[in-house]
Amino acid sequence: MILKDFMQNKRAALEQGGVQNPSLDIRTIVKARLDLSDADLITQSDLDISEDDQKQLEADIKDRLAGKPVSKILGAKEFWGLDFKVTEDTLSPRPETEILIQAVLDFVADREVSLVILDLGTGTGCIPVALLKELPKARAVAVDLSDRALVVAKENAAAHGVEERVEFITSDWFENLPDEIRFDIITSNPPYIPNPDLDSLPREVKNHDPILALDGGEEGLDPYKIIFRQLTHRLKEGGRAFFEAGQGQAESLVRLVDDSNATLEQVIPDYAGIDRVFEISCGDKRKKIEKGR
Ligand code: GLN
Repeated sequence: MILKDFMQNKRAALEQGGVQNPSLDIRTIVKARLDLSDADLITQSDLDISEDDQKQLEADIKDRLAGKPVSKILGAKEFWGLDFKVTEDTLSPRPETEILIQAVLDFVADREVSLVILDLGTGTGCIPVALLKELPKARAVAVDLSDRALVVAKENAAAHGVEERVEFITSDWFENLPDEIRFDIITSNPPYIPNPDLDSLPREVKNHDPILALDGGEEGLDPYKIIFRQLTHRLKEGGRAFFEAGQGQAESLVRLVDDSNATLEQVIPDYAGIDRVFEISCGDKRKKIEKGR
């Protein structure tokens, strides 16, 4: 079949099947499977697709119609301009999380500085890998409760040549980290979906992202509560923490930051105007503790 006709047919099929972004999805799938660029899709639109390729593409479209997201069909997702392997054991990286990466880079300013980053609940490892690519002298510790996610994160670190600068630790948040270790930067995109909302998530997310990566407890705040409790111990003097949060959580997070005695430096909205990234420091708390002694 000719590429152009195939794409037109399948775009229509996806649209009819209620898929949200049929054009983008068909392009992403075809480009990946046939190893074509955006330009190739135009200049090679009369390409005759081989029978084997067509079989593969038909299977992919079937999966997409059944609600599998493109990232899980291809086993890959682009994040920060880098390709990340994804599996059913990892959350597919989201564009919103790139705002967190940018916030860290804005804070660091000098890209040549040596610092140590901790990423909590690393999943695919997209956060530390993207940061280490930008910060050539930085090192990272990446923790996740899921060993299977860490296998994927390690592969991603190796694929992007930063594996020697990342330590992977299986841990329930800070639990398995040596007590004395402190970090310049702490990042996390923790599970923050309120438990009662899990059922109403799109099927692409509900059925294909691991529940461990989504479920944030009754109000979606459980991970923040655990993490904030230890933040002041775990950040070095002058260090910063960066968290991603979900829609409608800003007020609760501001309260949690206050309760933990940390300082909210800024809240950065995403493209949809949702308060998405929370930047937190602990300077005040430390001063208060020292004064109190
Ligand atoms: N840190 C990973 C990401 O941002 C995984 C997050 C998660 O599993 N909740 O994609």
